[in-house]
Amino acid sequence: MKVYLYNTMSRAVEEFKPISDEYVGMYCCGPTVYNYAHIGNLRTYIFEDTLKRVLRHAGYKVKHVMNITDVGHLTGDGDDGEDKMEKSARESGKTVWDIAKFYTDAFFKDYDSLNLIRPDVVCPATKHIGQMIKLIQRLEAGGHTYIAGGNVYFSIDTFPDYGKLAKLNLDELKSGARIDIDSNKRNPKDFVLWFTNSKFGEQAMMWDSPWGRGYPGWHIECSAMSMHYLGESFDIHCGGIDAIPVHHTNEIAQSEAATGKKWVNYWMHGEFLLSDKGKMSKSSGEFLTLSVLTNRGYNPLDYRYFCLGATYRTQLQFSYPGMDAAKTARAGLVERVASLGDQIADASAISEKTRSYMDQFDGFVCNDLGTPGALSVLWTMLKDESISNAEKKFAVNYMDQVLGLGLDAVKASGSGESDIPEEVMKLVSLRAEAKKNKDWTSADMYRKQIDDMGYLLKDTPTGPSLQKKV
Ligand code: AMP
Ligand code: ZN
Repeated sequence: MKVYLYNTMSRAVEEFKPISDEYVGMYCCGPTVYNYAHIGNLRTYIFEDTLKRVLRHAGYKVKHVMNITDVGHLTGDGDDGEDKMEKSARESGKTVWDIAKFYTDAFFKDYDSLNLIRPDVVCPATKHIGQMIKLIQRLEAGGHTYIAGGNVYFSIDTFPDYGKLAKLNLDELKSGARIDIDSNKRNPKDFVLWFTNSKFGEQAMMWDSPWGRGYPGWHIECSAMSMHYLGESFDIHCGGIDAIPVHHTNEIAQSEAATGKKWVNYWMHGEFLLSDKGKMSKSSGEFLTLSVLTNRGYNPLDYRYFCLGATYRTQLQFSYPGMDAAKTARAGLVERVASLGDQIADASAISEKTRSYMDQFDGFVCNDLGTPGALSVLWTMLKDESISNAEKKFAVNYMDQVLGLGLDAVKASGSGESDIPEEVMKLVSLRAEAKKNKDWTSADMYRKQIDDMGYLLKDTPTGPSLQKKV
């Protein structure tokens, strides 16, 4: 199965060709853990999960690496503002380490409840300072850095391709540049690799380095960790569209300046989720989390359905009527799937008709993740009375590998288990996942929630069993 993806670098849809037969290397910029993820951030992770699922569906093994930014991300992407973690710690009276732990856990709770497949490698920046220092030393040896005011800067004038991803016009940028707050910079677009004598003397997270005690800039972490886990050249790098002009531009400059090689083959970016006031962002105040939605009675998978209803490269306006429509549609899907019974046709017995729906589905998802078209194929297939329920069930499972709407776990009506609400079943699987990750606190919390919903959960040698409390 061929997969076609839009590459931000070429501004074109290209056939995907991996570097190696072994696996597809995919790096996704992860959260800055100073606050809860908002549902705009989560839209980006849903897009990345869909990409990973499509690649797996097409037969590739994917090595998915995601960082956790727990140091160095300032409130302004261009080295201005305050450290986001420090600010959050100060405002809440906690330590930066507590803040990082708390919001990383909260992030993965959202991640699991959206049925996102966890990355193969999750790498916190604070655990990879050594790799960052080595990369900076390599850049230093190549003459790409300078030290000013105690900080180590990357000099963009030493990298002629600077700005190629964003198609920045450097001459225009220079003449139009605002007076930079950081007067140490030779070029306003230069950026910090390592802070020592920075404006944040009281920074809690600091490490020794050849340039003095300090901490890394934000961009260097993604270059250092992605290369550490995926090699000096890898297949796909993803993120939100806002990362293009500064963060990803700087990542490319420092990675390719260090290695002299092309770093990433496919750049993919998810468009924004919009609130009434424009881009949803933590600073605009218009900031919705997943728990705001669940408190209003939506299932996290309703939000996943809402996002899949638009292609990842278009802006998506958030609205409650839109969420209501997604909720109704998903409930309809679940009901239809439940009514199919529990017989699944064998792969060898699939008719041409069903096969053609599956092919149409693949045609959509393999063409730059066309999820709206894919959803409509699923609906048409379910409504087609000329194919058997057992075949429909087979096709639903096939399609849900990509959609991730939990349809493969829907129990047949009348099977006994269907009387158990879906929310309870979801909590059971979240608890199983938490146990697998030895996250006992979350596992206990889920058990308590199951209990509160009127169900008794018992662990048996064949797995958990559920009983309605009388
Ligand atoms: P952050 O935790 O702020 O570093 O952001 C995590 C991810 O969410 C990044 O890839 C951002 O580009 C992305 N992002 C931020 N705001 C939005 C939004 N309104 N819609 C979609 N993605 C976003
Ligand atoms: Zn990044």
